[in-house]
Amino acid sequence: MPPESALDHVPVSVTPHEQFERYLRSRGRRNTVQRRVVLDYVFREHDHFDVDRLIEKLPRRGQPKYVSRPTIYRTLAEFVDAGLLRKFELAGRTVYELNYGYPEHDHLYCQGCQRLIEFQSDALLALRDEVAARHRFRVTGHRLMITGLCAACQSGSRRRPRRQQQS
Ligand SMILES: [Zn+2]
Ligand SMILES: [Zn+2]
Repeated sequence: MPPESALDHVPVSVTPHEQFERYLRSRGRRNTVQRRVVLDYVFREHDHFDVDRLIEKLPRRGQPKYVSRPTIYRTLAEFVDAGLLRKFELAGRTVYELNYGYPEHDHLYCQGCQRLIEFQSDALLALRDEVAARHRFRVTGHRLMITGLCAACQSGSRRRPRRQQQS
């Protein structure tokens, strides 16, 4: 499910597949059916996901286009390296999200329902750049995670994690 207040995608000159092909070529590697399958699933929608969640969506063992877990890990690492995905740690899990064609943003993480809410703030970027300038630091990126309780969890209308509610 897409995150709350998903941001507008930013235009890109080539598709994620082409971008990844370029990355592989520059490393002297060849694309494979498995890599294409994972890329297809990952770029279907903007979402925050971990490996287990991705495996739930991918073909099962014995089905056509099955991709093994080690290959998924290796492929996701390549996507991160190629700039297609961003990776971060959240409550002990490794979480991935689209980076390519998606604007830089930060997150609010609800510890009640485990939702990630995305936001952008020019004031925050200005503060970041000012702090960096003070330290003569060249910025290549940043990550801010605000933790707490979302409005629904504060009001008690959402007591259980969403994933449990769905099942
Ligand atoms: Zn919540
Ligand atoms: Zn996000």
